[in-house]
Amino acid sequence: MAPRIGVYVCHCGSNIAGKVDVKAVGEMAKNLPNVVTARDYQFMCSEPGQELIRQDIREKDLDAVVVAACSPLMHEKTFRGTCASAGLNHYRMQMANIREHCSWVTEDPAAATEKAKAIVAGTVGKVRHLRPLAEREVPVVQSVLVVGGGIAGIQAALQCADAGYKVYLVERKQSIGGHMAMLDKTFPTLDCSACILTPKMVAVGQHSNIKLFAYSEVEGISGYAGNMKAKIRHKAAYVDFEKCNGCGICQEKCPAKVPNEFEQGRGQRKAVYTLFAQAVPNKPVIDKAACIYFKTGKCRACEKFCKRNAIDFEQQDRVEEVDVGAIILATGHEVFDATRMPQYGYGKYPDVYTSLEFERMVNASGFSQGKVLTSEGKEPDSIAIIHCTGSRDQRYNTYCSEVCCMYSLKFAHLLHEHTHARIYNFYIDMRCVGKGYEEFYDRLLNEGVRFVRGKVAGVTRDARDVSEHGKLVVQAEDTLTGVIRRVPVDMVILANALEAQKDAGEVGRLFGISRNKAGFFIEQHPKLNPFGTSNNCIFIAGTCAGPKDIPYTVSQASAAASGAITLLSRGNALLEAVGAHIDSDLCSRCLTCVSICPYQAISVDGEPQLVAVDETLCHGCGTCAAACPAGAIEADNFNDNQILHEIEGLLSWRKERGKETEAELAGTGSPTK
Ligand code: SF4
Ligand code: SF4
Repeated sequence: MAPRIGVYVCHCGSNIAGKVDVKAVGEMAKNLPNVVTARDYQFMCSEPGQELIRQDIREKDLDAVVVAACSPLMHEKTFRGTCASAGLNHYRMQMANIREHCSWVTEDPAAATEKAKAIVAGTVGKVRHLRPLAEREVPVVQSVLVVGGGIAGIQAALQCADAGYKVYLVERKQSIGGHMAMLDKTFPTLDCSACILTPKMVAVGQHSNIKLFAYSEVEGISGYAGNMKAKIRHKAAYVDFEKCNGCGICQEKCPAKVPNEFEQGRGQRKAVYTLFAQAVPNKPVIDKAACIYFKTGKCRACEKFCKRNAIDFEQQDRVEEVDVGAIILATGHEVFDATRMPQYGYGKYPDVYTSLEFERMVNASGFSQGKVLTSEGKEPDSIAIIHCTGSRDQRYNTYCSEVCCMYSLKFAHLLHEHTHARIYNFYIDMRCVGKGYEEFYDRLLNEGVRFVRGKVAGVTRDARDVSEHGKLVVQAEDTLTGVIRRVPVDMVILANALEAQKDAGEVGRLFGISRNKAGFFIEQHPKLNPFGTSNNCIFIAGTCAGPKDIPYTVSQASAAASGAITLLSRGNALLEAVGAHIDSDLCSRCLTCVSICPYQAISVDGEPQLVAVDETLCHGCGTCAAACPAGAIEADNFNDNQILHEIEGLLSWRKERGKETEAELAGTGSPTK
């Protein structure tokens, strides 16, 4: 029976109708094969717009629908629901994107209208051959995997655990806490960072619903919606955490000392060490590269003094698999490597510090016990803080790191408290957007901190006069006065950019999450779903998705947790009906598809041996259908017949007009008349 198709062209206010002649598109659609009705409406996604579609499905007995509007990313779900509520299988609804693909990217209105007509004609061509499909419901595993134990992971884990769900929290270091554990104070309230973080860390350690896997990494993810298996590698710590009571005697007796990474290399730690005093779990690990026994075969002092026989030099990595229904990625960020900007002298001059080095210096438990002193042990007379180190710079990162202005203000305040020095803040623009942030800036102005508007060109020791002798000279153009300034100081603190983790690409591939140009994970929608991802069961939180401050990080982590809780509390997940099917009569068993399927959904099974697709694992990506040399695989609603009819629809519209140029359809120029 011939299909009966309805076409609905949305104005999207002026988003589409401002460029595309929507009435003309509707009129054209009426003449396409099998189209029984075509309408345009101001906002098709509004309730009255949806009702138009429902009414037509019922009254005109439609069995397929084309909605020419925005990206399916925005409203496919809406219109699928509209069709389903009127009794139409929603896989027979297809959106034609005439906004992002047309009106927003086409200069000339006439060309945009022609392009919209072609897109609609193509979509109608495909819809005529779409088949109804049935989704399947599968139960969702009632546990959550949280990857990363910084403040984002901690918040998300606690929220899911408090809601009654089992949480596996995986942290690659031996303690949770992340960057926040290194900070001295938090802006603008100046709370002690450890004081507000450690109660949450302790709560994680004590929560009966949280299984904390410290010193562990996720190395594999498999499964399908709401039913995933995470393979977790517990790295050999050479300390039996079950036996160790964290007494610290091993650390005390260990003779091997190496730079302490928690103190940014400015202090020292032992080869057997905990990350910091309030670590959770508070168990040491042995750094194999630093341990004298592992290097020379002699020592074992830690083993000798440990009263609980917890040292285990034979320990091996262990791999464990857990079942989870949802995943929250909170893998955090890295700090910009300031040696990439040699003009600022980091690594060359000992009194040039990074932001994290200063956090540790000013912290009472840090490498200088909170004393702000130069490398010569003197209190500095003058200090420069250089904003935007590695941010807002074409050579490094073009984006704003969002927190550097505010933490630079915090540094200035802490320096004001700890020293009598003159403090200079060199900034490009002051960005103080947040609750109480602008007021904090005002407070600093009143504290007498000097602000120089200008990007620092360099830091040098080359003195030009006696006032610069023995000083670090900061040179910048003051863009408010147009004067080149040379400011001699005793100490320089860099406000390092926040960057994506170096292994974010690998992590993204593991979880199937895309990244932006800067390497941060991409949200499902930056405004409407800033914590979801393209995978309905995976959420993101914190700085792995881009630079952000602690309040925003905690809010996003809570949102990600509520996304996971919503999914789990529903109990069931719908599996998309689109999949792939193998015609065993055509299949030559070359097994190309088995190796090419990115979801390991195809296997060889049974007697006689047949190549088959596991419907639950298949994402319907179509890779196998494209690769199969025998043409034995068909992807639901993306089969050759449907795609060829879509292309035919696009081309027939051109053919009918007869006189188009390539430029017209590409929308890159004015149509020739
Ligand atoms: S065996 Fe290694 S970790 Fe233990 S005390 Fe000696 S150097 Fe330190
Ligand atoms: S469509 Fe094919 S390649 Fe893609 S997930 Fe399904 S079986 Fe694997």
